[in-house]
Amino acid sequence: MSKRTYLSLLILLSVTALTIFAISVAQKPNENLQYVPVLESKPPKIGDNAIYRALSVARTDEISLKGQARIELKSIFAKSKLWPSGSTLRVAFIDGTFELHQRIAGIASTWAQDVNVTLDFGKSDDGKSYRRAGPNDTSEIRLSFNYPQKPLRWSYVGLEALTLASPGDPTVNLQGLDDAAVPDDEFQFLVLHEFGHALGLEHEHRNPQGGCDSEYDWFLVYMAYQTQYGLDEPAVDEILRSLPNSTAFVASEHDADSVMHYNMPEWYFKKKTSSPCFVQMATRLSDLDRAGIISAYAVSTLERWKSMFSDVQGLIDRGGLSTDTEADVLEALGERFENMKNLDATVEFLPEMRDLMIDGEEKWHEVK
Ligand SMILES: [Zn+2]
Repeated sequence: MSKRTYLSLLILLSVTALTIFAISVAQKPNENLQYVPVLESKPPKIGDNAIYRALSVARTDEISLKGQARIELKSIFAKSKLWPSGSTLRVAFIDGTFELHQRIAGIASTWAQDVNVTLDFGKSDDGKSYRRAGPNDTSEIRLSFNYPQKPLRWSYVGLEALTLASPGDPTVNLQGLDDAAVPDDEFQFLVLHEFGHALGLEHEHRNPQGGCDSEYDWFLVYMAYQTQYGLDEPAVDEILRSLPNSTAFVASEHDADSVMHYNMPEWYFKKKTSSPCFVQMATRLSDLDRAGIISAYAVSTLERWKSMFSDVQGLIDRGGLSTDTEADVLEALGERFENMKNLDATVEFLPEMRDLMIDGEEKWHEVK
């Protein structure tokens, strides 16, 4: 090898090594980690929910026929999280000032326009105060700005609030939103986003039609959540992985303008800014957000549960459940269905429903 060839080869090798190094450095999250503006955590007790945990494990494992059935069961269960159509949901504030309550009521109310569900913020006759939550308050939606458990935002999804939050405890945590430093657009997004969950909506970036699963650079995403927020892979999956493609969800096409879609840093995605899942932060409801919530509550509670029942029957017909599970599921769902049927005559049954749902959840937990 001549000296000149040797030198060329050396230069080529050096350039290659430098390029590889530069790419790897550029892909590391570093200080960009601070960018994640709306990270949520799971609400308390969600992790203790046996069926939830079992099924989330099944989702990340290789999926057998039985495994797929378990996932479908979970999503059928998710459908039952919508509030009864026609409900009036009382909203109560655990803390925060009148000005803050007024601002939040104004933003959140846009969700309920033309929807067969009412958000009642309990504004006083003199217009000087909103409903306050006492220690054992049972208002359906209870907001806190200083809930100490986790410095993150979260909301139970729909009816989870009845079964998983103890009276008086928050069902929506808007930690830090009482800080005047929160920019307007982020404030607007967070209020709309968390109320979307409270009304029963899941994350849009988990839309089974969206295909975001194949867009992420999972290694970087897991590393970012782990180092910055201490969340392990199953926890991250619950936030980001696509939901099963099931009739249990009323999924439209992927809606990049949805307020239920996270805006994530470009380095989360293999295609960076050209990924369809790299979106701007929404500050108002998209057309599909509005259409989705209107159609979800346009169906009567009884019709919704009937269709859920037939989803389970379909699963059984396809042989997706073992005989034991089949009997348990039919019994548990059948009982809840019967109770719902009796209760659907009126929508004034939310307190009774709490006990009913807890009873139902326990039965579902027993389903292995
Ligand atoms: Zn969320």
